[in-house]
Amino acid sequence: MIVEPIYERVAAKNQGQPEFLQAVKEVFESLEPVMEKHPEYVEQRILERIAEPERVVMFRVPWLDDQGNVQINRGFRVEFNSAIGLYKGGLRFHPSVNLSIIKFLGFEQIFKNALTTLPIGGGKGGSDFDPKGKSDSEVMRFCQSFMTELQRHIGADTDVPAGDIGVGGREIGFLFGQYKRIKNVYEGVLTGKGLNWGGSLVRTEATGYGLVYFVEEMLKAQGKSFDGMTTVISGSGNVAIYATQKAQELGAKVIALSDSNGFVHDPEGIKLETVRRLKEVERKRIKEYVKEHPNATYHEGFTGIWSLKCDVALPCATQNELDENAARELVKNGCIAVGEGANMPTTYEGTKVLLDNGVAFGPGKAANAGGVATSALEMSQNSMRMSWTFEETDAKLHTIMQSIYEQSSTTAETYGYKGNLVIGANIAGFLKVANSMLDQGLV
Ligand code: NDP
Repeated sequence: MIVEPIYERVAAKNQGQPEFLQAVKEVFESLEPVMEKHPEYVEQRILERIAEPERVVMFRVPWLDDQGNVQINRGFRVEFNSAIGLYKGGLRFHPSVNLSIIKFLGFEQIFKNALTTLPIGGGKGGSDFDPKGKSDSEVMRFCQSFMTELQRHIGADTDVPAGDIGVGGREIGFLFGQYKRIKNVYEGVLTGKGLNWGGSLVRTEATGYGLVYFVEEMLKAQGKSFDGMTTVISGSGNVAIYATQKAQELGAKVIALSDSNGFVHDPEGIKLETVRRLKEVERKRIKEYVKEHPNATYHEGFTGIWSLKCDVALPCATQNELDENAARELVKNGCIAVGEGANMPTTYEGTKVLLDNGVAFGPGKAANAGGVATSALEMSQNSMRMSWTFEETDAKLHTIMQSIYEQSSTTAETYGYKGNLVIGANIAGFLKVANSMLDQGLV
């Protein structure tokens, strides 16, 4: 075993960071066959180098709430790897955010970005700030304070953040405004911008649409399609909403959505107009859905969603939301495909159960890469000072997702793991970054 002792050294150095180590372990394990074939990676200690961020910034974010009370949050930006391009990755605002979570997300982002075929390195950031229940002015004051520090570390040619959990169009707007005000430059320093001020069509829909395009390829490989597939999708945020829209367009019957409190089950098929109004306009909880659709039921607790019988499951909420028991329920109920819209939503053990039982499994770093890929398309449009139509951008996204599937599936086969997209995606993403690191010397 080449990889295990290397992992042990990384684990010893990063104690108290369970999510980060979970992500590292999963990637490293897939790389054993690569290390056996390429002693130069071992000699150059590429694995230890890749697991060490190039830079970590942690900072204080003080702001005043509407009552005039002082509030303090913690901000993060992890600039993980710039071997193939500038740092690129979202910002997450959620009370659970800590260094371990930002590092796991940044680490995953390195390989995901490599898979997109576009020249972008890996980074991630965020804060333990909770936008839920805050007024627009509180969110604005927080974002301004956050950007007052972050602006020193980012830039259109250095590091370009985007949204993630808790960071949507509203937050990106406040962040962009403050960046421009401090730096006095109008540049594509953030993606996910409004369409009037440099945003790209399809960016809002990209992660959800991209996920469905990817899973469509997984189904095609089995001679199937989304048409008529009963589908369960967790979450009811950006990724879940647009995955639902695209899956429905392709003929799937989406029967459930959730938030962190519980899930709704609508056996007749989720009415997306209601969800979009509740979540995007009124910023309400998913349980309100059943007031308007009495045939649907609401269930407390978000993990119960995986007990519903379905053909396809798309976890689109958060990390570790689909565990071993949930995976067993899905297998028992005949689920044939799982595509990760969220980052690392399936636990290590859950993934194993699905793979061992022949469920087609699309790992997040491949299946949800449509978001960052379209962010990179937004950057290209900003650099060219022009914009593409919805159809053009969507067609590019579709092609990129097909190519990510192709790379992951071909690489898995080359290394003797046909059908295992976890191994395929990890190896394909790793090779591009590792070779670039070798080319660039010991930096
Ligand atoms: P949103 O904030 O728009 O939505 C998140 C959804 O997940 C909400 O329904 C939220 O419920 C639920 N959720 C969040 N935290 C938890 C939790 N701890 N337990 C249970 N449910 C939770 O975020 P996105 O849709 O943008 O992101 C969802 C996932 O997709 C994340 O893992 C993100 O990293 C990943 N992703 C997002 C991309 C993007 O472009 N937006 C790109 C690639 C990956 P509640 O309202 O109750 O918090």
